[in-house]
Amino acid sequence: MKKVKVGILGATGAVGQRFVQLLENHPWFEVTALCASEKSAGKSYQEAAAWRMPTEIPAKIKNLKVKPCEPDFEAKLVFSGLDSSVAGEIEDNFANRGYIVVSNSKNHRMEKDVPLLIPEINPDHLALIKSQQKRRKSKGFIVTNPNCTTVGLAIVLKPLDDAFKIKSVLVTSMQALSGAGYPGVASLDALDNVVPFIKDEEEKVETEPLKLLGTLSKNHIALSPIKISASCNRVSVRDGHTESVELTFAQKPQPSQVIKVLAQFKGVPQKMGLPSAPRNPILVAEDESRPQPVLDRDINNGMSVTVGRIRKSNVADIKLTLLVHNTIRGAAGAAILNGELLKAKEFLS
Ligand code: NAP
Repeated sequence: MKKVKVGILGATGAVGQRFVQLLENHPWFEVTALCASEKSAGKSYQEAAAWRMPTEIPAKIKNLKVKPCEPDFEAKLVFSGLDSSVAGEIEDNFANRGYIVVSNSKNHRMEKDVPLLIPEINPDHLALIKSQQKRRKSKGFIVTNPNCTTVGLAIVLKPLDDAFKIKSVLVTSMQALSGAGYPGVASLDALDNVVPFIKDEEEKVETEPLKLLGTLSKNHIALSPIKISASCNRVSVRDGHTESVELTFAQKPQPSQVIKVLAQFKGVPQKMGLPSAPRNPILVAEDESRPQPVLDRDINNGMSVTVGRIRKSNVADIKLTLLVHNTIRGAAGAAILNGELLKAKEFLS
């Protein structure tokens, strides 16, 4: 099969580096363009990126020249890991010029005709693309993945909402340092510390799941009525966001029923055998001391959400702890899975 040429916007950043790493040897996609800010443009990728992945820079990428983020190169699809201060306008430029943009940034996530997509949860929301193309008068369009904390939470909420109808969610996150990009949080603020504030994070975690779990209705998504309250904290962990979650349901499941529903959950990527799809989107940990970032974040190449400590709550109905790899399932891996779904559903032809 001829590979689809893809570009990476924001290729030098924390998420951009993950794209480069995960797309090496991808069976469907081939990276042909790397873009970043004016500071990086014109340099080789090796010179421009402060490479922090635990693998070598792919040989084909090392000496590729970084370009400015202009929609003037040959590629059908672009993955975006751009800083949100610039992502809005640059991604619009690309989509209006006919490119298909799969973005990690917050800028377009809640727009009415832009799918906010997790392929296991709401693949039917791709139907919004038609009206977006019409608005743009272009074959191009934008599809987004949610915020890294939202991804883990929404994957766990979906099967539980389908089975027992969720009424409310209280979530407290313990988020890794890599979630703040590179160089991110100053070492003197991070070490030996917990920072109980991440700008705009709680708002994203409280609203994005409502669109993801919402219902497609003609040209828009009717938001889910679930009530969510989030408290987000930055902790001294390199990769992997941990979330403690308390759930109230319309029907009142036992912990054993919750375990069964989560462990059996599969979605379209598993059924279609998409290259980046984990066999199970959710892994239920039996050991009561799990999940832990160091032990569980890389299971299934960082694409599964690990859930443990599923038990009764004295305040809500059920409480549990989940872990999601923030730069893989929470960012670059999520976007690549979105790109794979677009290809499998023939949006790239
Ligand atoms: P980062 O490490 O700060 O990287 C930002 C990227 O944007 C770099 O490639 C940078 O290029 C580029 N950039 C900055 N200003 C630019 C400009 N004026 N024109 C063109 N490119 C510009 O950030 P990150 O953590 O990778 O996050 C990237 C995006 O993904 C953000 O929107 C973030 O919210 C989102 N996200 C991050 C995570 C995570 O876990 N880190 C998870 C989910 C979503 P230079 O190197 O040339 O400056």
